[in-house]
Amino acid sequence: KANKVVGVQTSRGYIATNQVLSAVAGFTPRICKMVDLATPIIIQPLQACVTEPMKPWLDHILVSGSLHVYVSQSSRGELVMGAALDPYEMHSTRSSLEFVEGLSSHILDMFPFLSNVKIVRQWAGMADMTPDFAPIMGKTPIEGFYLDAGWGTWGFKATPISGKSMAATIAHDRAPDLIHSFRLSRFDEFELTGEKGAASVGH
Ligand SMILES: Cc1cc2nc3c(=O)[nH]c(=O)nc-3n(C[C@H](O)[C@H](O)[C@H](O)COP(=O)(O)OP(=O)(O)OC[C@H]3O[C@@H](n4cnc5c(N)ncnc54)[C@H](O)[C@@H]3O)c2cc1C
Repeated sequence: KANKVVGVQTSRGYIATNQVLSAVAGFTPRICKMVDLATPIIIQPLQACVTEPMKPWLDHILVSGSLHVYVSQSSRGELVMGAALDPYEMHSTRSSLEFVEGLSSHILDMFPFLSNVKIVRQWAGMADMTPDFAPIMGKTPIEGFYLDAGWGTWGFKATPISGKSMAATIAHDRAPDLIHSFRLSRFDEFELTGEKGAASVGH
């Protein structure tokens, strides 16, 4: 109300509060629309797949920067494989045959001996994408509404420090210097923070 948070409606009822943090990758544009906040985030699918279990042979995660694929072996022996973002905006966790065909052909370029291994499941996640591939963290023009979004394809590894930084932002109503480069206002100020190299596969 009047550019200020007064509460949040949840599926378990209404909570009166003057502070709300939105950390909902894949849904950020929808939540921001509720508070009439414009961000440059779009949603693109990122797909992955898993094979049947094999005896252990791969002890590292292997990434090809030229074929844009990665593969690792889980403790259950399955190969976990993925590639770059799907090249279109879509709010869906639908996965596709095109993805698994393209990925398989690149994996077989590297490891022809995998040609008889079966893929047992595949899926897509919805990735929050920003124009500079860096997250949006901190305060927003809506008083009491904070954002931790836009982590794209590489948000796992930043989870501990982003949690700590956002907790500090909420406690002091001021973003720590560490996350200054990730402020939402950088897009108005033309001070982008290029992080395209942060993900292991190219986009
Ligand atoms: C296939 C795939 C592979 C990936 N591989 C890697 C990798 O190897 N390394 C890496 O660092 N990152 C990887 N990522 C990216 C990583 O998953 C994301 O960047 C990260 O999870 C984003 O964290 P988040 O906390 O912003 O959102 P999420 O982890 O997506 O969490 C958001 C949560 O918000 C919930 N939510 C949504 N809407 C609402 C609502 N209205 N109310 C309440 N809750 C809501 C969701 O259910 C979800 O639990 C991968 C992503 C995908 C899809």
